[in-house]
Amino acid sequence: MTGFDRLRLDGVTRRFAGADALADLTLEIRRGEFIALLGPSGCGKSTALNCLAGLLPLSGGSIWRDDTRLDTLPPEKRGFGMVFQNYALFPHMSVQKNISFGLSMRGVPRAEARRRTTEAIRLVHLEEHARKLPGQLSGGQQQRVAIARAVVVEPSLVLMDEPLSNLDAKLRLEMRTEIRRLHQSLGLTTVYVTHDQEEALSLADRLVVLRDGRVQQIGTPEEVHTRPANRHVADFIGFRNLLPGRFSSAYFHTEGVRVKGTPVGTLEDGGPAVAAIRPEDVTLTGELDATVEVAEYQGREIAAEVRTDDGLVLHLRTDRRLAPGDKVRIGLPADRLLIFPS
Ligand code: ATP
Repeated sequence: MTGFDRLRLDGVTRRFAGADALADLTLEIRRGEFIALLGPSGCGKSTALNCLAGLLPLSGGSIWRDDTRLDTLPPEKRGFGMVFQNYALFPHMSVQKNISFGLSMRGVPRAEARRRTTEAIRLVHLEEHARKLPGQLSGGQQQRVAIARAVVVEPSLVLMDEPLSNLDAKLRLEMRTEIRRLHQSLGLTTVYVTHDQEEALSLADRLVVLRDGRVQQIGTPEEVHTRPANRHVADFIGFRNLLPGRFSSAYFHTEGVRVKGTPVGTLEDGGPAVAAIRPEDVTLTGELDATVEVAEYQGREIAAEVRTDDGLVLHLRTDRRLAPGDKVRIGLPADRLLIFPS
């Protein structure tokens, strides 16, 4: 459909009963990008997607495709494809009919519609199931029909709202790869909503992390993973150890412990701070004497909770076979210990 270079959300805001569900979202999406909107339940992800789709009017701001203003257009005039959690396939229509429906609605000539439908079915590997009804398919197969139905009309943008949340763990992984493959091979531009950080990190070119309707960080998976912008993002993205304390003379102080870390943001000398480190970055060589309190078997690794002699509780992961009561010495590498203002 309509090609474009950039899609721009400019200060997009949506209020419900006076409260901001989404406040001032500004984002430029380049053609071919895969963007994930990530955040905890209620942070405004679906609101953002629905504003983009045209299912919710904006309370403020605007949306542009190159120089065309989009937010004043009804959903069907925006040329977007959508895939939602409950894929809402037509139960009385075959897979083939479900997929070709959008093409006939758009008046695509029959021969072309047939060709494009066959191609879409092939892309999502449903050749053997083309004549079945949705009720005769597994959850993953139904999800693939929903994706084929969305992409067959060659939308300028594909919007996906937690499309994998109804699937079991194994299928989720398979479909994740499938979605990324389709995105690449069809040259799609995709906006994908999820609360699953692993899914977002593995799929997206850039993540938009939201909290309470506000953007916390926009960055590549690597940027968000290694350098979260604030302690809320750190918490959400797997920095399980969040230690309250104080920042003073380039050191973080807490519970009789004084360690060097990497300051993120503006820290006041002597002011309250939070130090954050991932369990997998806590080392078993270091200065802090500690005792293992809990050890969970997790296949290759042990996830342990340890308490330092000063009373600091830390989560760590290791391939050493730790057991409760073991004495260990742990380290918090300065480049992995991020210090945020509190
Ligand atoms: P989830 O992952 O649980 O779907 P979300 O991040 O998609 O959450 P939204 O559905 O965008 O969050 O909701 C953002 C905020 O707006 C929430 O506080 C929610 O209660 C509120 N909200 C959403 N839709 C409405 C509505 N139709 N009327 C009133 N409040 C709403």
